[in-house]
Amino acid sequence: PKERRALIMLFGGTGDLATRKLYPALFNLYKKGNLRDHFAVIGTARNKINDAEFQELVAKSVAKESDDKKLIANFASHFYYEAHDVTDVKHYSVLREKADELDKKYDLQGNRVFYISMAPNFFGTVAKNLKTQNLLTENGEFNRLVIEKPFGRDYESAKQLNDELSASFDENQIFRIDHYLGKEMIQNIEAIRFGNTIFEALWNNRYIDNIQITLAEDLGVEERAGYYDNSGALRDMVQNHIMQIVSLLAMEQPVAFKDVDIRSEKVKALRSLRVYDVVEASANFVRGQYGSDNSNKSYREEDGVPADSNTETFVAGKLLFDNYRWSGTPFYIRTGKKLAGKFTRVDVVFKKPLVDIFAFPQSGSTPLNDNVLTIFVEPNQGFSLRVNAKNNEQGFHTEPVDLEYMEDQKNTPQPYERLIHDVLKGDGTNFSSWPEVASAWKFVDQIRRVWDIQQPNFPNYIPGSMGPVAADELLARDHRQWVYKI
Ligand code: NAD
Repeated sequence: PKERRALIMLFGGTGDLATRKLYPALFNLYKKGNLRDHFAVIGTARNKINDAEFQELVAKSVAKESDDKKLIANFASHFYYEAHDVTDVKHYSVLREKADELDKKYDLQGNRVFYISMAPNFFGTVAKNLKTQNLLTENGEFNRLVIEKPFGRDYESAKQLNDELSASFDENQIFRIDHYLGKEMIQNIEAIRFGNTIFEALWNNRYIDNIQITLAEDLGVEERAGYYDNSGALRDMVQNHIMQIVSLLAMEQPVAFKDVDIRSEKVKALRSLRVYDVVEASANFVRGQYGSDNSNKSYREEDGVPADSNTETFVAGKLLFDNYRWSGTPFYIRTGKKLAGKFTRVDVVFKKPLVDIFAFPQSGSTPLNDNVLTIFVEPNQGFSLRVNAKNNEQGFHTEPVDLEYMEDQKNTPQPYERLIHDVLKGDGTNFSSWPEVASAWKFVDQIRRVWDIQQPNFPNYIPGSMGPVAADELLARDHRQWVYKI
């Protein structure tokens, strides 16, 4: 593997994301040799700890990744700590001096990655101070900024945040994390589509009846109630993850498998998504909030959630594209908490043959099944294709069979490992560009506008179900049903 050379400055270095995901991801890159001798990490946060304590924290957070104590110690020796309040402009000079010193020590050649793993209200401040306090290098190959989610809470606030970031960084220097884009099977959508004539030739409204995307969680809000109650499922899951998956499924073939080409197709797809008016939005979107049962509290009973909260913990919706490829083929989406399981899947439902020649009454055959391509994103990774075939009994009866491929997940890198590696390579393929984020917010804002004036009838689904009845009715109205049901 090619060794990447960089100084990584991490804001929020003692936080939950850093210790749970980012340090293990960096360690795995180190284990593989993508990071080796020429890298250093400056962790910053408000805590007053020293380098040794920080290295201890890093070592602890990667302990389960390896039994090799020496390897872990060597890795952790590349980590340095500065207590720093991101709003203290003057103090950035301390970070600059430290960065310059480590640049020399590890021969980093001016390459810098600034990773902001903090509450989003700090994103703009940090970006601005990095620029004005001269932390960006002139001599390096790159200065890159990595931003966590959420990116705004509506189009206006996202635009404002983006304006703040782009005052200091160019769009191609900004890497907006959407960790779903780091998942193996989400990346596999492109391979399945553009590597196979048998799919791409049929990938349109003539042969695809509908596409279904499900992101189900079995847990409730847990400790995130404070954040979640202000956000809700539409903002937390649909605007980012689901819209990204939709755009990968809907886009035209990119000119080449390169970030600029893929981005431009994703943006084009999102721009042809129909932005609903009030009537369409209330007809095509369903919201839900979980109630209680014997073993589960209702959402409104969770710690930190107001007893009269109208925040949705479930969304289902129907998306329509006004373009040549997809006109008339709906994309149904759903996501929620306290559902029947924790899984993500995409079901591509093909149209039935125009004539079912097996369906004459004396044959005894059941009607042909839909061909369904299911992409299993998690927890299992793989796909299956449902086809109709003759069963091996006397007579002639058709029945559906599933051709299935499941990946061995032992060697699959975790999303954050892939994404950080992409940042180091400068590959923006699996990050959300500003035009994508903007289109997604414009779509979602319309739904929100309607929901904010109409009172929901909450709670309306029981824990362990697949959401409110209305989510099934949404498809039944179109004479369809969810492929996955319980
Ligand atoms: P956290 O609260 O655990 O960590 C925040 C960090 O920022 C801490 O290190 C804290 O010391 C530091 N900090 C706070 N105020 C500061 C200040 N004024 N100056 C300097 N440092 C300050 O948060 P987290 O859960 O790690 O989340 C970080 C980011 O990642 C957020 O944007 C979050 O939305 C996003 N994210 C987190 C997760 C997750 O699983 N935790 C998942 C997806 C996205």
